[in-house]
Amino acid sequence: MALNLLILGGTTEATALGAAVADAGLSGTVSFAGRVERPGRQSLPQRIGGFGGVAGLRDYILAHGVTHVVDATHPFAARMSHNAVSACAGADVPLIALTRAPWDAQPGDNWICVPDIAGAVAALDRPPARVMLAVGRMHLNEFAPNPQHFYLLRLVDPPGALPPFRDHHVLVSRGPFAQADDRALMEAHGIGLVVSKNAGGAGAYAKIAAARALRLPVIMIDRPAVPARLEAHSVAEVMAWLGHGADLGV
Ligand code: NAP
Repeated sequence: MALNLLILGGTTEATALGAAVADAGLSGTVSFAGRVERPGRQSLPQRIGGFGGVAGLRDYILAHGVTHVVDATHPFAARMSHNAVSACAGADVPLIALTRAPWDAQPGDNWICVPDIAGAVAALDRPPARVMLAVGRMHLNEFAPNPQHFYLLRLVDPPGALPPFRDHHVLVSRGPFAQADDRALMEAHGIGLVVSKNAGGAGAYAKIAAARALRLPVIMIDRPAVPARLEAHSVAEVMAWLGHGADLGV
């Protein structure tokens, strides 16, 4: 049976995998939730929007003759990852996750580790500070309980609604970012504190390295739990799992 891949996307890794799959002459589709207005350029056909929970994803897999699923979503997209495990089991289709290792604190880092967004909100219950809040627009309202701070918000798209903060600045920009640029940005806005998800990977690390260089504390939000599944950490590993490792010299 010809291979027909479904890549659950929304990350640079998913885009890179799509390019490798297309280069290898394989069939596949990249799926987006539809959170950003313009997903980056894709080498494979794409579909946009939720599937409708576990049952919807299972039905999609069966209806489209999907033979393999790669969960290449962001480490914080936990619901999609849960759904993928259940739906693939239900459809009896193999699943692999293309994941990034989390960041570890390095010498010179000053991290305040919190388990989730609520933990970050609680950690911001403190006197006014100038905060770089890099958590994505979906979570801004959860930070409303601490309006005493100035918030520098870096978002992929302009926020749909006005952020719930008296004092803020919105920067619309898509990564990857460079450490020197992020350091200059933090200095320009007099940032004293950074809030970040522990996303892992290179594209969003610049702000963490810049905070270290400026000796700024970082409220680091831990990853949500996801069910056990087969995991790969590189595009080459996924291609090998698909039986096409030789194409990439694996
Ligand atoms: P989530 O909470 O795990 O997902 C919520 C719902 O969105 C899912 O149940 C699913 O709807 C739909 N969905 C999520 N990813 C999808 C995909 N790739 N294709 C089709 N439907 C998808 O996810 P999220 O945190 O909102 O993230 C949404 C997307 O943004 C993901 O694709 C992720 O890779 C990307 N992203 C997320 C973050 C982050 O920090 N969370 C950062 C960068 C990029 P149904 O149940 O209806 O199928």
